[in-house]
Amino acid sequence: MSTEVVTRFAPSPTGFLHIGGARTALFNWLYARGRGGKFLLRIEDTDRERSTPEATAAILAGMDWLGLDYDGEAVSQAEGADRHRAVALELLDAGKAYKCFATQDEIEKQKKITNKDGKALFRSPWRDADPSTHPDRPFVVRIKFPQEGHTIVHDAVQGDVQFRNSLMDDFVLLRSDGTPVYMLAVVVDDHDMGVTHVIRGDDHLNNAARQMAIIEAMGWPVPTYAHIPLIHGPDGKKLSKRHGALGVEEYRDMGYPAAGMRNYLTRLGWSHGDDEFFTDAQAREWFDLKGIGKSPARLDFKKLENICGQHIAASDDAALLHELQAFLAATGQPTLDPAKAALVEAAMPVLKERAKTFPELLEKAHFCLADRPLDIEPKAAKNLTSESRGILNDLTPQLQNATWDRHELEGRLNSFAEERGLKFGQLAGPLRAALAGRAATPSVFDMMTVLGRDEVIARLHDAGTAEGS
Ligand code: GLU
Repeated sequence: MSTEVVTRFAPSPTGFLHIGGARTALFNWLYARGRGGKFLLRIEDTDRERSTPEATAAILAGMDWLGLDYDGEAVSQAEGADRHRAVALELLDAGKAYKCFATQDEIEKQKKITNKDGKALFRSPWRDADPSTHPDRPFVVRIKFPQEGHTIVHDAVQGDVQFRNSLMDDFVLLRSDGTPVYMLAVVVDDHDMGVTHVIRGDDHLNNAARQMAIIEAMGWPVPTYAHIPLIHGPDGKKLSKRHGALGVEEYRDMGYPAAGMRNYLTRLGWSHGDDEFFTDAQAREWFDLKGIGKSPARLDFKKLENICGQHIAASDDAALLHELQAFLAATGQPTLDPAKAALVEAAMPVLKERAKTFPELLEKAHFCLADRPLDIEPKAAKNLTSESRGILNDLTPQLQNATWDRHELEGRLNSFAEERGLKFGQLAGPLRAALAGRAATPSVFDMMTVLGRDEVIARLHDAGTAEGS
């Protein structure tokens, strides 16, 4: 028997890719990828009313942005209905399921025993009925859930979770119109896809006990279950709209880099010692089920930003530019033309030092993006007095013949300031205004180096000759 690890992500396409779903997908992806296994995608679209192609597209887009590539084709659960039905009929033939002719009315009247969730249990009189007594009317197919003993879900996160069989019902496998139920579809698909590890939200823990009954009735191997606690908001309450940003595309649109998001989501509910920042390769190597915590993790935007900042700083310049362009395109903004892209890439070592998101990176890159003559923001314009404009005009000739490197420029500017009896800060303000039109910018030397002599002289000239106070 093959020992290859096979995991899957099985979203229901009824909305965007929720941050909790994205983390489930990520955990499955990491677990498989770190073990040379397969990561499969199954779209659980059996609820025809609530499933939409737009939601499927949004889920695929979210996974694509997060870099969660899956093996083979995405499987549509709805397309497997015939196979799901066949399994129910096989169980019927084997006497492990039965036809139940009870009417809704009978079911309502008879429900007395309640299970631990307070749900009333129905005990069908048809469980052991002689087929010769079967009436000629519609029926559902129910599983014969064992009535004695316990079902134990050996969960890699929750430990052994016991369910008392006497409190479980003979749930329906096939509805009276012959359509298979979701619970059956999941089990059949997981089996047919060769899934070895089911990693999913702990809201499915109760389902696992039911699903095991089908698995055992079919004599199939039980996968390893890992039910992960849901994500909570910063206030410790269940994640909801009032916490903001529920869909991964919102994080993409806020400009968080995908690598930072992967790192943060991996850490959300899983730990490897005290490591907060790690690379994809480390995450793949380290990720295991043992490190998943038992209590719900809380969203923490500060931490997310911090980790994202570290990923931006650690990124390769060209790759970062590529991601920045993708961010602009995804958020409907014009992408950078080749000339501006080249300037931004040249400035990248400086820009990426303190940016936590792409909008912050773009803000720092403003001096690369602005066109001459620059719009000067009011705060910066205050630094362009007639006196300081005169100073900029005097500085220009000093730059004409300078070797254009940072060291030389620092020397020239410092001695110029000294000759004029100025503190460097008094020169820097007007220079920032002239070169970037802003009061807060990267260092003037960095801007000068990136912009090049001609552009710097042209911008100084624009500022020196501009109308102003
Ligand atoms: N389709 C289910 C959901 O979106 C997941 C089922 C499973 O992972 O077994 O919650």
